[in-house]
Formats: sequence, C-alpha cells, structure tokens
Amino acid sequence: MKKIGVLTSGGDAPGMNAAIRAVVRAGIYRGIEVYGIYHGYRGLITGNIKKLNVSDVGDIVQRGGTILYTARCEEFKTEEGRQKGIEQLKKFGIEGLVVIGGDGSFRGGVKLTELGFPTIGIPGTIDNDIPGTDFTIGFDTALNTIIDAIDKIRDTATSHERRFIVEVMGRGCGDLAMWAGLADGAETIMVPEKKESIDTIVERLNRGLQRGKKHNIILVAEGVGSANDVADAIKARANMDTRVTVLGHVQRGGSPTAFDRVLASRMGSRAVELLLKGEKGKMIAVQNNKIVTHDILNVLTKKHEFNNDLYKLAKELSI
Ligand code: ADP
Repeated sequence: MKKIGVLTSGGDAPGMNAAIRAVVRAGIYRGIEVYGIYHGYRGLITGNIKKLNVSDVGDIVQRGGTILYTARCEEFKTEEGRQKGIEQLKKFGIEGLVVIGGDGSFRGGVKLTELGFPTIGIPGTIDNDIPGTDFTIGFDTALNTIIDAIDKIRDTATSHERRFIVEVMGRGCGDLAMWAGLADGAETIMVPEKKESIDTIVERLNRGLQRGKKHNIILVAEGVGSANDVADAIKARANMDTRVTVLGHVQRGGSPTAFDRVLASRMGSRAVELLLKGEKGKMIAVQNNKIVTHDILNVLTKKHEFNNDLYKLAKELSI
C-alpha cells in the first residue's frame, strides 16, 4: 500500500485534528502518501481530495473542529453514491482509508470494505456512545467544557439559592451527563439508561431544602428529553421554580484536552499500522488504557455499555 486517505465525517469533535495529524505523519514516517478527503463522504463522491504533507498538519494538534471539515451525505447511503466514491479513490490511486467519526460514519466505512476497499475507523464523537471503547476522541474535552460551565452556574446558583437544570449533549448516551455529574457533584443526574421519576427528584429537592442547601444542580442528558420539560414537570408537581441552561454547541468546540490529543495520536498511528498490515473493517479502541482493535461489524451490533458503578458512585456521593 503506497497511498491512503483520511476523512472526518458526522458530528465534529475536538481532537479530530490531532487524529488527522497522527494519520498523516505516521503514514509519511512509514514512507507512504496520505490524502485528505474534504467534507466527509461528500468530498469522496465529488473528488475533493488533496495530498497532505507534513507541514499541512502543523499547528493543528491544539485546534478544535476538523481541518478536513465534515458533512452528512445522504448520497453515500446509496450504492450509486458509493461507487462514485470508489471511482475517485481509484483515480487518485488511494488504496486504504481511515474514517474518523461516529457509528454512522462507520456504517459507510463497512460498506466500502464490503466493496473491497480496506477501511479503518477511529471513534471521534463527544458523545462517547461507541461500543467497545472506553473513550471516544472529544469526550474528555466536552466533559471539561461542561464542568467549566457548571462551576460557573454553581456560583450564581449558590448566590441566589436557586435550583438549576442543565441540559447536556450525548444523543442516546448518558455518559457526558453522568461523568460531568460525578465530577461536579450534581445533586441529580438524569440519563436515558436509568429512569428517575419527577417525584423522586422533587423529594430530593425538598430534602435538600430542609437541610438548608443553598443550591441544586440537576443535569439532564439530551437523550432523556428537554431540560425545559423537566422544569415544567417540577413546577407542575411541586410549584418550584428552576432556571434552565441548555449548553448546546459550545460542548463541541474548543482546544482538545491533553487526554484527547494523546488518545487521537495513539489511535491515528495505529490505524495506519493496521492498513499497512493489510487489515480492514476494523475500529481502533482504547480499553484499560491499551489501544486495541475490533471488527466494526461487531461494534455496530452492540450498544455502548453504561458504567453502572460510576452512576452508583455519583448517587452515593450526592446524598
Ligand atoms: P456519525 O458518524 O457522527 O454517527 P451520521 O450518522 O450522520 O454521523 O453519519 C455520517 C455520514 O456517514 C452520513 O451522512 C452518511 O454519509 C454516512 N453513513 C451513515 N450511515 C450510513 C450507511 N448505512 N451506509 C452508508 N453511509 C452511511
């Protein structure tokens, strides 16, 4: 294999640039050419492809977002669209591909592998919703952004003796809410993996009030529903006022943490090694701080495992 490609697809995540840099430099270090494919699978179809040199990925390890841009591309879900992509790869002489993205992007990658085109996936999403890996690239940075925001909210919550409801991202996965809740001592954590009734939440709020608690933070994962709905339900049930903050896209941006940069570097380099070994259809993962690989097809049939121990700990410490 002499030429490989790299693309970012689906939702962007801080640390994707560090992964791109690792793929490009690990490839060049091993004597191959690396091509950047811009705007995800859309750029693959249209041939928005450019050879990347060592200096093209200089000064990006610390930057959020993705220099290759990302996109969602419905056309790639069709046989015809994928054939167009394969033709472009052939035109450029690219023989293997690294896809950095979430499970949707991996589905596209699997299809390419099935068409005889070796593809390796790197999990890049702030949601941490990919099975088989302890962490995805971007999760740690988003977590730290959330914690920073909650620390600030807590200051005003304490000053005004208010209850705050904070909605965080994560799609169907409660990891961002749970880890942030544990790290920030939120009084209540609402995640899609564990149901908690409004009655229980109101009881906890009342207990806190009786103990003279000055503030109360309720963290809501977006997979549970909207923070405004939770606020309305609490108002209807207990006539309690709350303040709602929806953190939104600030969670996606910012300079990646050291953890995400290191993870991305390790994963990017391993992806290149795999392609050069003739592997295909694999996802790079981190488990117990070791870089490991799984068959993507296997990953896609599983669900990300929720860490019940951490959830229990968060509850135990927020009595
Ligand atoms: P993420 O990778 O963050 O989960 P999406 O689910 O939006 O994001 O997927 C990103 C892109 O991957 C889609 O826009 C599409 O181009 C491609 N993709 C998703 N699912 C498939 C599929 N079943 N077959 C082929 N391509 C797919």
